[in-house]
Amino acid sequence: MVKRTRRLYEGKAKVVYETDDPNKLILFFKDSATAFDGAKKAELKGKGTLNNTISSLIFEMLNSRGIRTHFIKRLSDNEMLVWRAKRFPVEVVVRNIAAGSVVKRLGFKEGDVFKKPLVELFYKNDELHDPLICEEHVRLMNLAPVETLPLMKETALKVNRILGEFFSEHYIKLVDFKLEFGLLPDGELAIVDEISPDSMRLWDAKTGEKLDKDRFRFDLGDLLEGYRKVLNRISE
Ligand code: 5GP
Repeated sequence: MVKRTRRLYEGKAKVVYETDDPNKLILFFKDSATAFDGAKKAELKGKGTLNNTISSLIFEMLNSRGIRTHFIKRLSDNEMLVWRAKRFPVEVVVRNIAAGSVVKRLGFKEGDVFKKPLVELFYKNDELHDPLICEEHVRLMNLAPVETLPLMKETALKVNRILGEFFSEHYIKLVDFKLEFGLLPDGELAIVDEISPDSMRLWDAKTGEKLDKDRFRFDLGDLLEGYRKVLNRISE
């Protein structure tokens, strides 16, 4: 049994701990909800468990489909064991339907369906508010090894196909999602962080009800109720 040792880092939604195995970390999912770079905050009891459970189910599925992720196993309600990774400060977003920042930036109407998935890159930097970047910025600023860029994009699109099909089987539309990548101890590229309704937009396929963090961002209803609906559907 791996033991939690030193607290390495505390983020907005998770705490990262070192363990007695130098190659493994424990992620603790907090009950905090934040939006707009932390300007809006709340403590929602049970959120950590929901995100850990949903994220673990998704990572397990991706691992079983040959997509490399940092996930090893779910340890408890709020804890996940992961491989230590050298993380890149880049967010890879895949969009199937227009929502969120792409609506504000480019004038799409929310709900516009893209002919093919749109992949965007963002620089993960709170002070700069995670600006949109292109591959040239990744190279110039050395944000990730350049040779990993095509594989990151290809993996993101593969994940989009797998998750899109998976959610649609459960009557949920995968609108968009964000992935983060890093290098595992063996040098392989892998998906890190979490894949949860905090990092995806999920709409009920029949009613269009928003089941993700937009509920919290825009006061659309109880956040936990949305996340519970997602969990209940995907674990049916
Ligand atoms: P947008 O660019 O429209 O704000 O976000 C696109 C998608 O990526 C949404 O599903 C959103 O939740 C996710 N996303 C973008 N930035 C972040 C971030 O900093 N943290 C998390 N958890 N998700 C993000």
